[in-house]
Amino acid sequence: MTSSLVNGVVAADSDSTSNSVGKPSESPPASDEHYFFDDGDCVLQVEGVQFKLHKAFLTRDPESMFCAMFKDATGENDDIIPLHGDTAADFRALCSLLYIRPGDAYSRHKSPFTADDVKVYLAVLDLSNKYGLAHFEKWAQQLLEDAWPVVQEYLVTCPEDTMEKTMGIAIRCAHKTLLAEVDSKWLASITEGVVTAESALAAGESYGRRSFQGDVYAALRSRVRSTSLFLSPQVGLKALGLTEDQLHRFLTGFTILTHVLIVLTTAGQTLDTSPTCDTTPPNQPPTVPPCDCQSHWDELCQQNYHDSFELGVPDIRLTLQRTKDRVDAFPCIKEHLSSDDVAFCEDLDEYFLGPKPANNEPEEVPVLRR
Ligand SMILES: [Zn+2]
Repeated sequence: MTSSLVNGVVAADSDSTSNSVGKPSESPPASDEHYFFDDGDCVLQVEGVQFKLHKAFLTRDPESMFCAMFKDATGENDDIIPLHGDTAADFRALCSLLYIRPGDAYSRHKSPFTADDVKVYLAVLDLSNKYGLAHFEKWAQQLLEDAWPVVQEYLVTCPEDTMEKTMGIAIRCAHKTLLAEVDSKWLASITEGVVTAESALAAGESYGRRSFQGDVYAALRSRVRSTSLFLSPQVGLKALGLTEDQLHRFLTGFTILTHVLIVLTTAGQTLDTSPTCDTTPPNQPPTVPPCDCQSHWDELCQQNYHDSFELGVPDIRLTLQRTKDRVDAFPCIKEHLSSDDVAFCEDLDEYFLGPKPANNEPEEVPVLRR
């Protein structure tokens, strides 16, 4: 993903010292400008950049994966240990906190937080989680908490590939607050038309997050039903900015949802009486009405109508859940909505993404490892 917020400040991840990042692998490795100590006793190579560090700094945490790494390593101190899956810029950020002096840490904490600080703290959170540096992971969490308003601002202005990366960090580190913030900021950008939904949907899919994808499709549905987006026969659906697969999912969900909302918002449909409600003894005249399902159904339809067609941006999940609550409470409504014809589904994600896979685990903060 390379697209960026259209009218946002581009907060690039590059910095002046990460000059080797992205070079072809055949380039000779470079020594890091800041973290290559002559008296270091280990060399770690990340993306073609070598960091000569001190084992004592990397193994202060008893759970540190570096302890095992150095224990298993044989050979000379200058043997190079390659680290995979990290960027040199992120590893440099980790070094900056591993090596910070107490006085500098104090002054830094007293200064106003900046977007560059947020980048460092996110990188440290991610890598300290990956390498089992529990103390530093906790410290990064505390720093992010202290810098929270700057984190929020950072997520408004950063490019989409940074959003995707931060989503990954939040998931790997099981940081629910950070994940919720990424979700909400990204959805807001889509709703406001600052970015298309393509990258967010791709990120949601790559991290296996059905609910986020459902939210993105729902946000897109709201846009299509508003004047914030202009579609015409001449332009077709290009303005949605989706891939072919995403467009197919969107159109499928949109169409089915449109139909289901007609069923859920049309008052006056007569419900058949469920056998559960019809307690009249055989050969006796029926008690009229045997239950109050019909009046609750009519009231539900009116409420759904109000939310779906009279409110500016309806919360479609709320409408579906409210309907499900009535299904559970009123047998006649349940029989009506569970009939083969209607087959009501309360899970918004399924409208766009199809039925849940059979082995689908309960979602939210799936813990992924690299
Ligand atoms: Zn009933």
